[in-house]
Amino acid sequence: GRKLPKPDKTRVLTVANQKGGVGKTTTTVNIAAGLAAAGLQVLVIDIDPQGNASTALGIDHRAEVASIYDVLIDDVPLHEVVAPCPDLDNLICAPATIHLAGAEIELVSLVAREQRLRRALEAYAEHRKQTGLPRLDYVLIDCPPSLGLLTVNAFCAAFEVLIPIQCEYYALEGLSQLLKNIGMIQKHLNAELEVSTILLTMYDGRTNLASQVAADVRSHFPEKVLTAVIPRSVRISEAPSYQQTVLTYDPSSSGALSYLEAAAELAERGVNRG
Ligand code: ADP
Ligand code: MG
Repeated sequence: GRKLPKPDKTRVLTVANQKGGVGKTTTTVNIAAGLAAAGLQVLVIDIDPQGNASTALGIDHRAEVASIYDVLIDDVPLHEVVAPCPDLDNLICAPATIHLAGAEIELVSLVAREQRLRRALEAYAEHRKQTGLPRLDYVLIDCPPSLGLLTVNAFCAAFEVLIPIQCEYYALEGLSQLLKNIGMIQKHLNAELEVSTILLTMYDGRTNLASQVAADVRSHFPEKVLTAVIPRSVRISEAPSYQQTVLTYDPSSSGALSYLEAAAELAERGVNRG
């Protein structure tokens, strides 16, 4: 694979959009796979009770498995729940189980309830150092669609937000609400958080609407939108049912190539920024 630069410090990205079905999970796992394929050390944190990212990465997430739920609620160290992705070197995942559905409510009464994921990640970085494991290059957090305490934990643990946008009519409307919420997080909980990257997904080049929406998003956020665009592709949507990312499921497909391109761009720009 293509060689990508290592960031000077671990880049922690939350993949967020308050709409469901816009490609958050698909983007999380395929960008993660693209980075890992280039030899970078990548951790995916699945913080959506649906557990779709865990499924797509082939990670066991049946109810009895230790998961990110135990980390958030019972202070179990992250190193006890991460599992290696069977098909990809350099990629590990902290799975979500169905118990996470209750975590939104259980978190409410806990101390430092917004910061629990951040603390767990800090402790995990220290653990890797102590045990001689290489430093993580990327952490990607797959969020549920709502702005509950799980998503707030993700925003507090991250330095960057990656927003996948589906090229359809309501895209910009949803985006302004999301940016408002991120503004609140920046003001009250995590001043370091930045929307660094926007990725256009499920792009159907045959429709005028898609190219119009893409042009609108680019003109509003010229610095943030990746040049690479993810096409609507059957191969991308089939891959999870084989517990795979599209990169291993069909490496030469347009979907795989576009995610590789997006991952490369993310890695290359990040290092050149500021
Ligand atoms: P979210 O996590 O935002 O809810 P998903 O990543 O699960 O969204 O995507 C929603 C659905 O769309 C899934 O069935 C997924 O396989 C499919 N999908 C995602 N991206 C693409 C794409 N580029 N082409 C075709 N189908 C896609
Ligand atoms: Mg999802």
